[in-house]
Amino acid sequence: MIPKATVLLLGGSTEASAISRMLGERASAVPGAIGVDLITSFAGRTRSPTVPFGSVRIGGFGGIDGLVDHLRGNRVIAVIDALHPFASVMAFHASEACARVGLPLLKVQRPPWTSGPDDRWIEVDDMGDVRRAIDRVDPRRVLLSIGRQELDPFRDIVGPTFLVRSIEPADLHGSWDATALLDRGPFTESGERTLLERERIDLLVTKNSGGTATAPKLAAAAALAIPVAVLRRPPVPDVRTVPTVGEALAWLDGVLQVSG
Ligand code: NAP
Repeated sequence: MIPKATVLLLGGSTEASAISRMLGERASAVPGAIGVDLITSFAGRTRSPTVPFGSVRIGGFGGIDGLVDHLRGNRVIAVIDALHPFASVMAFHASEACARVGLPLLKVQRPPWTSGPDDRWIEVDDMGDVRRAIDRVDPRRVLLSIGRQELDPFRDIVGPTFLVRSIEPADLHGSWDATALLDRGPFTESGERTLLERERIDLLVTKNSGGTATAPKLAAAAALAIPVAVLRRPPVPDVRTVPTVGEALAWLDGVLQVSG
């Protein structure tokens, strides 16, 4: 059987979930309204991800060549890169693979956060810079809000204690004094303020993820005059990019009209 034309959605972000949910709502309102299959692809960092619409594939493609094979083998007609803004390797792979196969590619990228007058940001480029910021600030207790994949640079830091917030359990081995906090956004400013005060946090470390779900920690830190080490975003490929899910769906409608 010839597979149906497919749209590949590179997931792992709130935008990807929203795209899948909104396509699902359309499909249940008008059966057959979405004339293509949607495959949402996850790297496999989260256990058993589910999607409201279409199917899921999990795990790397095997580099650019593997992605090219996947695109060709699954009759993919368009790719939406709704990756987290820090997933830059995959974003470059998608750009290169789509160029090779000649497929339309859209990147959905929420704008980064920007600092205001009350913020005490220390903007840094990588985890090495974060370490240097920790040395400089000399905190007693650090809230690491960077996920659980990139904790290695901190495992041997002795002095401050660390509270590591992540959605899934983090591996906290090492000589550092670290405790886990399992939680997921969206957060509120009052909740974040309570956390920062209760835990006596005097340095917050975050990626500049952007979006509203996790932004309240920044307002709470500003209100309490707590410094924040903010990782700047990595470079992304120069591809067509929109900031919102609504614009991504409008783009997809255009692609489907042309291909249908
Ligand atoms: P990355 O550094 O850009 O990619 C590393 C490798 O992981 C890629 O080369 C690819 O393997 C595989 N990969 C990444 N995203 C994939 C996807 N959606 N589907 C299939 N394979 C994928 O990625 P990352 O920063 O580790 O992020 C991994 C996933 O977590 C992404 O889906 C991202 O949206 C999500 N996420 C990342 C962050 C973050 O801070 N980095 C935060 C929240 C969510 P192959 O080369 O084998 O194809």
